[in-house]
Amino acid sequence: MSPSALRRPLLVRTRDDLQRELSVLRGTGGALALVPTMGSLHEGHLSLMDRARDLADLSVASVFVNPLQFGPGEDLERYPRRLERDFELAAQRGIDLVFAPDPEIMYPDGPPQVRVEPGLLGERLCGRFRPGHFQGVLAVVVKLFGLVRPDVAVFGRKDFQQTVLIRRAVHDLELGVEIEVAPLVRASDGLAMSSRNVHLTPPERREAVGIFRGLIAGQEAFRKGERSGPSIVESFSAVVSGYPAVRLQYAEIVDPETLEPEEEVSEASVLAVAAHCGDVRLIDNIVLGAEEPDPRISHSR
Ligand code: AMP
Repeated sequence: MSPSALRRPLLVRTRDDLQRELSVLRGTGGALALVPTMGSLHEGHLSLMDRARDLADLSVASVFVNPLQFGPGEDLERYPRRLERDFELAAQRGIDLVFAPDPEIMYPDGPPQVRVEPGLLGERLCGRFRPGHFQGVLAVVVKLFGLVRPDVAVFGRKDFQQTVLIRRAVHDLELGVEIEVAPLVRASDGLAMSSRNVHLTPPERREAVGIFRGLIAGQEAFRKGERSGPSIVESFSAVVSGYPAVRLQYAEIVDPETLEPEEEVSEASVLAVAAHCGDVRLIDNIVLGAEEPDPRISHSR
């Protein structure tokens, strides 16, 4: 019988409680999966938890809004926080343990002095507009790996650049954690689910779908035989320009491992974009040669 069937899941908020409960869990044996999140859970996060339970006997989710990955003037203070609800949702999905530390617990000596330098991968795409962001992400992910010592950690395809960096960090630093990347979960109209979507006004929410429709247009151009990166980006931008509330920050087609922009694209190339809608920053991406995420989603206006 799985430990989940025997135990009620637990919410722990301190390092001591985390270590005590981890050792109890570990005593039951089996591989352990970690799902790091910033909380305000939605179906995207919950799909990672389902994946974690498929992959391992024991599952831990973390809920921590990591100050180190927010730049000055970004939305750290107003980032949605709903811990009680998050815990209930994670429990319903069969997670064994939820670790939700406050910043003083996570960083008891203040921000860590020694950091992982993301290098060029952290300067591309979002890195150009969010200096220090990926260094902050790697700081917390490496710390969580150290605290939880998972066998596998599950991340979402929604944060495509983050998954590339984390895989690379695990490889370069021999962190010994298997990295699983789960598919991007979309709302029924195609908008990528995000905790930040709650800040969209109803008109902004309606327009935000333009990002997904643009991605589909880019993918269609590829299917019809277009292989020029800039032309496919043009197809994307032409659709997005029909949604004035969406202000594009960047749209690039990149190699899925190096993140280098591609002039000549292939099936594996990724069209990655960021845009503001009202004062909410949204990111999204699509693999040009991948199956259409949901054929029922219409992409005409
Ligand atoms: P966050 O709480 O936004 O930091 O996200 C925590 C994890 O959930 C990251 O690995 C994200 O990539 C993943 N995630 C967030 N939104 C989605 C989504 N719509 N589909 C799949 N994974 C997601």
